[in-house]
Amino acid sequence: MPTGGWIIDTPGVRSFGLGHVNPDNILRGFPDLAAVAETCPRGCTHLADAPDCALDEAVERGEVDPARVDSLRRLLGSLRG
Ligand SMILES: [Zn+2]
Repeated sequence: MPTGGWIIDTPGVRSFGLGHVNPDNILRGFPDLAAVAETCPRGCTHLADAPDCALDEAVERGEVDPARVDSLRRLLGSLRG
């Protein structure tokens, strides 16, 4: 019996880790906000300075919790280097 063992090829594992977190992954952690963000303009950063961000409109209409949007924006903002 050969005892070379298995070569386990798991390239996907490398995509984990904070260095590879992108805004879509963060939004997935906020499903209620992600649903709103789907109506954002294409390429919207969802940050406080984003023009026409649907999150702002949803907050104004009282549809989402402003504190949740704040948390999301803090996380998204931390991605910007
Ligand atoms: Zn947005």
